[in-house]
Amino acid sequence: MLPLDGSGAETPRCSAKGCRRGATEDLRWRNPRVHDASRVKHWLACPEHADQLADFLARRGFLLEREAI
Ligand SMILES: [Zn+2]
Repeated sequence: MLPLDGSGAETPRCSAKGCRRGATEDLRWRNPRVHDASRVKHWLACPEHADQLADFLARRGFLLEREAI
């Protein structure tokens, strides 16, 4: 656990490489060749990267769902 810094709730950040924007979507995915059915991975995404990341996952058949956060 990271120590609390007193700044309140932590802003979720976009998972895209090099992006430091706040995330607005939670992309849930799983690689069935690596993860069993109970595992769900999360990528958080800003508006700019949500479609790009979702498309990346969808093309590989990994995308489960995306939801606004
Ligand atoms: Zn982003």
